[in-house]
Amino acid sequence: MSDTKDLGFDTLCIHGGHIPENNRAHLTPIYASSTYTFDSAEQAIAIFKGEEPGYIYGRFGNPTINEAEDKIALMEAYGIQDNNGNPLKLAAILHASGMAALTTLLLSNVKAGEKIITHQSLYGGTQEMIDKILPGLGIQSIIVDFHNISKVEETIKANKGISLMYMETPANPTLQCVDMEALAALGKQYGLTVCADNTFATPYLQQPFRYDVDFVMHSTTKFLNGHGTAVGGIIVGRDLEKMKTVVTKTHRLLGGNSNAFDAFVLTNGLRTFGLRMERHCSNAQQVAEYLEAHAGVAKVNYPGLSSHPDYAICKKQMKHPGAVLSFELKGGFEAGVHFINNLKVCTNAVSLGTCDTLVSHPASTTHVGVPREKRLQFGITDGLIRMSVGIENVEDIINDLSQAITYNHNEHKIINNQ
Ligand SMILES: *Cc1c(COP(=O)(O)O)cnc(C)c1O
Repeated sequence: MSDTKDLGFDTLCIHGGHIPENNRAHLTPIYASSTYTFDSAEQAIAIFKGEEPGYIYGRFGNPTINEAEDKIALMEAYGIQDNNGNPLKLAAILHASGMAALTTLLLSNVKAGEKIITHQSLYGGTQEMIDKILPGLGIQSIIVDFHNISKVEETIKANKGISLMYMETPANPTLQCVDMEALAALGKQYGLTVCADNTFATPYLQQPFRYDVDFVMHSTTKFLNGHGTAVGGIIVGRDLEKMKTVVTKTHRLLGGNSNAFDAFVLTNGLRTFGLRMERHCSNAQQVAEYLEAHAGVAKVNYPGLSSHPDYAICKKQMKHPGAVLSFELKGGFEAGVHFINNLKVCTNAVSLGTCDTLVSHPASTTHVGVPREKRLQFGITDGLIRMSVGIENVEDIINDLSQAITYNHNEHKIINNQ
């Protein structure tokens, strides 16, 4: 589809990025080929120089991967105009995982001696990359409260060498949201490269390129794929020249490339993306309201509830508040274990963004090895449950929660009937 300018978002999800295939296959096939042929030495020269489009080698990309990349780039650019009033053009590179995309993104933008400014509550892998890998490459990170814009500005002024701003919104475990517009504008004012992890929100709910954001990264493993069938990640950038040169070079040399099968299932998942997100979000809002009113629940973290501290920021920059929430069960660790063990419809698994509702108890799973004091600092309390609300019939999700949280109203405590 060459002209997508006037199409609606759902039409883009279905047709965007598709190029008719030589053998007239309806869907772009899984190109299981590690290398590509040339008609002549002259053609090889033209393709290598980038003067003629064409594929060279599997690590650099293939038609199946290209379709997923172009579709996601169109989704992130949807309805946005560039400085000349033309539809915004973005470029995207699919990777083997969100972490591979993040590695390419950081290493193509930050050098030894430079610093990153970011906030608390980043995705665990991102935080570990910043703490454990980057310092060895001479890249330090400074963590500031991104809710405090003047503090962020002071920090940028006080620290020579900050070259990149990194934000993730909403973020685990409290679904904290930060003001993308204000932060990106500040970042640009000081000449920083501004990057946003848009995994939780997705381009359906939030488009960082509406603001002064330079790069967006996603773990496509989550809502974009939507079915839990492949791990993947993507970088989307607005500086087309930089994407074509430095970022492409870094992607090719680091070798975190995607593959045709993962790209195929991603593209297939994306066809229903808009529909899925509407249902995910409407279910999540109802589940959050149900939980907030439940006597066995101490607290619900969902930016679509007016009790959430970032309710206003979320409303300003997101179409809906997303489908991830967390809540604290009264009754602590045992209540959490009991709840998880009693679920019948919801799935006990980490990750998020699949059609089915995923529920996890961080204190007994992802954070079981983290000392209690430390995990409490991150907001991972004993009875905290993280939930990615799926697209089942919402009554079935709520009924399942209702029977798994067995709370005795008379005694005001969780019944532990195991
Ligand atoms: C899952 C996730 C990542 C990492 O992506 P992988 O595909 O697991 O490598 C990064 N950021 C966020 C917000 C995530 O949820």
